[in-house]
Amino acid sequence: MIQKAKLILKDIFGYDDFRPLQREIIENVLERKDTLVIMPTGGGKSICYQIPALLFDGLTIVVSPLISLMEDQVRQLEVLGVEAVMLNSSLSTDAYQKNVRRIRQNKVRLLYLAPETLLMEKTLSLLASQNVACFTIDEAHCISEWGHDFRPEYRQLVALRNRFPQSVCLALTATATERVQQDIRSSLQFEASASFVASFNRENLYLEIKQKSQAAEQTLQFLDKFPRQSGIIYCLSRKQVDELSTFLKEEGYSVKPYHAGLSTEERQQNQASFIRDDTQIMVATIAFGMGINKPNVRFILHFDLPNNIESYYQQIGRAGRDGLRADCLFLFSYGDIQRINYFIRQKHEQEQVVATAQLNALVGFVEQDVCRRVPLLKYFGEDAQEENCGMCDNCLTEHVAAIDVTIPTQQFLSCVKHSSEIFGAGHIIDILRGSKSKKVLKFAHDKLSTYGIGMDLSKQEWFYLSRQLLQQGLLIQDMTHGSLKLSAKAWDVLRGEQTVSAKMAAPQKKSTRAKVEQNYDSTLFESLRELRKSMADDLNVPPYVIFPDKTLIEMSIHFPQAEGGLLDLYGVGSVRCAKYGPPFIQLITEYAEKNGVDEKPKHLIDDNSVKPPKRIGKPRHQVVSEKYNDGASFEDLTNEFKIKVNTLLNHLYNFSSEGHVLRFGDEFDEILSLPPQILVNVRKAFNDHGMLALRPVFETLNEEVSYHLLKLIRLQILSAQAKNNQNDSMVTN
Ligand code: ADP
Ligand code: ZN
Repeated sequence: MIQKAKLILKDIFGYDDFRPLQREIIENVLERKDTLVIMPTGGGKSICYQIPALLFDGLTIVVSPLISLMEDQVRQLEVLGVEAVMLNSSLSTDAYQKNVRRIRQNKVRLLYLAPETLLMEKTLSLLASQNVACFTIDEAHCISEWGHDFRPEYRQLVALRNRFPQSVCLALTATATERVQQDIRSSLQFEASASFVASFNRENLYLEIKQKSQAAEQTLQFLDKFPRQSGIIYCLSRKQVDELSTFLKEEGYSVKPYHAGLSTEERQQNQASFIRDDTQIMVATIAFGMGINKPNVRFILHFDLPNNIESYYQQIGRAGRDGLRADCLFLFSYGDIQRINYFIRQKHEQEQVVATAQLNALVGFVEQDVCRRVPLLKYFGEDAQEENCGMCDNCLTEHVAAIDVTIPTQQFLSCVKHSSEIFGAGHIIDILRGSKSKKVLKFAHDKLSTYGIGMDLSKQEWFYLSRQLLQQGLLIQDMTHGSLKLSAKAWDVLRGEQTVSAKMAAPQKKSTRAKVEQNYDSTLFESLRELRKSMADDLNVPPYVIFPDKTLIEMSIHFPQAEGGLLDLYGVGSVRCAKYGPPFIQLITEYAEKNGVDEKPKHLIDDNSVKPPKRIGKPRHQVVSEKYNDGASFEDLTNEFKIKVNTLLNHLYNFSSEGHVLRFGDEFDEILSLPPQILVNVRKAFNDHGMLALRPVFETLNEEVSYHLLKLIRLQILSAQAKNNQNDSMVTN
């Protein structure tokens, strides 16, 4: 039987191998043993019931809580040539009746139902005439009051089991807690059952957490890495969603908002537009994501804090379901924590305790410098397999050695103490560095003994130290106000009984390039994508239903020019190949002829490690900047690319940070209007604070030099550095 399952896997679904546990689960179901499957999103749950459904004589019923999920599954199965239908309230009477007829005529292998439809008398009598081989309960956590989406109708499903005692039952969920698992098994009266729990490690997700400083710029920089690719940006509030999506639209991005404040119709439209690749980016509150099965989501940006570790995991889980690399960036700020705390304080006392504990766990997760997967998986009761996953910021950061920092630590702690333990790090650092800021003078902190004693460390270094003192438990931060207090441990340090060591240099990033570079023909890939999109629009389905991205990438590696070669590729089964293959083969053949490339059959090349498209074609910032260097003016470029000057400056910034030299056209003359001394100060400020964040430089100059000018000067500095580097390397070569 399992041999047959393997054949179906390739012939219908187009996959060569089972994913972890799929084989075992299918075997178990085929032996008609009740089965509970716990697998993360993207793990490949659907195949676990779809393949048995194709092998059983009778009908497989799939209970699913969301109509959008049912529609998506049925559509995908239709494309694969599998007879699947659904019955739910969204169907017209005609369509409903048509589906019922097909069931009566035994033409259907999989029947998708909402639980309430299943429990209706007319459905039950329809099913009574059928040989029901398998009951599949998808999203089975809905059965449990301990899960996050309890659905009372799910509780009644057990009555059905009693009506169809011969049918095997398969329950699937991505919720891992033991309590929910127990609940599912007992509610469904599982006997002689087996549970399969897959790893929750999603290897293809690149995890990164950054301090939020210039959030808008950080967002643009991040988005720049994914031209024309789909992604979701999560925000905390509707207002934030509206603001950010408007901002991005103005910057020329293809973006739609999604939150509970929009009309149902608008929400549905925006979601559909995203699923069909008409909209590239969804800016959304947590309301978005359930019921979305889009496999090619290439990035998730947490613009705000998620509610807790579990929702963070769920949200990033929506990326990279197709197994290709996807990037998850979380912009973290202590200011946001204070905002959340404010919300928490509006809750009931009992809820406050839970929410605060969850928030603290989240902060703990963010601040650790071990592999991001370790605390994340631990949360789900799992140990990380490898010490270095190679797919998170911490693992890709060169660790700097810790040095003795007892003296600056004592200075910092004593400054906290002397200013009454009611201020945040920024103010303490201002005192230590002898700032004449209004706040320092107002509280007469320039009279403190610690005033101005910390000039030998930069502001950034002090911040860095203070973060580590928090992590080491020497300081305690008030979550509401951000103020710092000394812990009991801190006193040992102040008394000189305890030394402190910390890492003072900001960690260096190792290059991640080797891991993601991929030799596929990006021009061909783009043409294939266009072809897929137009076919999808004609058929009124999302593009991924025709072929997944990974198939198009493999086409752009192997150039198949006949059905045989196409059938070798990922995701190409016989039905799909016959139905949709020909136009692709034609396009590839023409392309290959024109460009003089030959087919490189997959079975001759041992390369099953297709990595995701990191970049398709040249990144935009490079295109724009090269045009600038070729003589185009700012005005030319903002018109041509329909971007604002600000975005243009960001592109140039990215370009010059990558070590390219820039041309300085008339637009830079503005810098000459600055008095020379101020220019010197700006350069010094960049030197002190680094190039990344402009705000510290802006503040150091008492807000007298505009951001625009600062950006221009920053470009000059970076470009000069790039030039120096080039000269250096010419000398050493
Ligand atoms: P889940 O329901 O667990 O979130 P899906 O069943 O939607 O996951 O599967 C996620 C993606 O992985 C889908 O695009 C699916 O086609 C693909 N997939 C499933 N099984 C395999 C396999 N054995 N080999 C390759 N891809 C697979
Ligand atoms: Zn890691």
